[in-house]
Amino acid sequence: MASPRGGGRGKKVRIALRRNRSAPARDKHWTRRIRQQGVDSIESRQDERITPKGDLSRMRTVIVDETARPTDARLRDGRVVAMRGLIADVDDGERTWPCTIRRMLRTRRIGERQAVTVGDRVQFSVVADADGVQREGVVETVGPRRGVLTRTSGKRLHTIAANVDMAVVVVAADQPPPKPHLIDRYIVAAHHGEITPLICMNKVDLDPSHAFASLLAVYAELGYATLCCSAITGEGIDELRTALASRSSVLAGQSGVGKSSLLNALQPGLQLAIGTIIEELGKGRHTTTTAQLIKLDFGGYVVDTPGIRSLDLSGVPRGEFEKHFVEFVDRLAGCKFPDCTHTHETGCAIKTAVRSGAIRPERYESYVRMFTDPGI
Ligand code: GDP
Ligand code: ZN
Repeated sequence: MASPRGGGRGKKVRIALRRNRSAPARDKHWTRRIRQQGVDSIESRQDERITPKGDLSRMRTVIVDETARPTDARLRDGRVVAMRGLIADVDDGERTWPCTIRRMLRTRRIGERQAVTVGDRVQFSVVADADGVQREGVVETVGPRRGVLTRTSGKRLHTIAANVDMAVVVVAADQPPPKPHLIDRYIVAAHHGEITPLICMNKVDLDPSHAFASLLAVYAELGYATLCCSAITGEGIDELRTALASRSSVLAGQSGVGKSSLLNALQPGLQLAIGTIIEELGKGRHTTTTAQLIKLDFGGYVVDTPGIRSLDLSGVPRGEFEKHFVEFVDRLAGCKFPDCTHTHETGCAIKTAVRSGAIRPERYESYVRMFTDPGI
């Protein structure tokens, strides 16, 4: 994504709206509602212009007056590198500060699982202990987010990672066997959060007959970047390193597919624990999800996420799914009904394309499954 800069004193930034995100832009109260409900750090300013990109988009372009940035010298800039319960570890470039979150930020993001998340750019103040030593801080503001990977957790929105450009969807050739529907869910989540997916097939050493190749070909045909690798043999690790360099990525996928092993192979100094979280996930509680932002010594950052077995997409407006199946997009205008859901309707151009072989039945079935049950 480009980082557009407006002329003059305004700076264009992309922000994610948290509520009423599918409300029509022509609703005359919408600017006031945005101000009331808060877009952190800009909401009290009177001079922003808000340009809706489209009804379905959760992101908005906002012109922020740069001269209005807080100038309080006590505030420091940093990036959240890990969340530990209610504590955010914030790196200011020199050290990592454990920070609590200002209550006001927490109440503003009540519909979210956490007020801040890994990858957030924040401003924080440092507080001194009784003995005058500065050991921790308080997150005061959260910068606008662009490029997010989100899911629904319980009834709340969980932003797994913020300010990332790419989602590396890691699957294993075997152990566990790949789940194409889960890949499709990650792709939809990536598109929804305005990040680019990369499908990474790990453990190719376990499949000497290369049965995985036909699955990867489905995604390559659709125009997605794909790569094959093995954390054990080292195959494909250089390609993965090249893909990750000079950008911020999030590594996502089921537990056990080899995310930690891949990171260790990419950057041997990391020494991440391998295979330690499966037990806990097996009990059906995947609430202990913690992610961390890792600085790569060959350039770039990666957010490592513990396994997420299923990706609840109930936070994505249903009408949006069709846009995120890239092979559907050019055919949507051909449906008889403008509000066609491509499930039961007659005169559906998507179903016609499935019958003629132009759209793969597996992908269509995946769409129907996601549309009818986004909350798996
Ligand atoms: P994570 O849960 O995605 O972080 O997965 P881990 O990195 O903990 O790996 C899970 C298991 O898969 C461990 O036993 C690893 O040794 C194994 N593993 C990881 N990558 C590969 C690979 O490329 N080939 C094979 N054969 N095993 C792998
Ligand atoms: Zn249709």
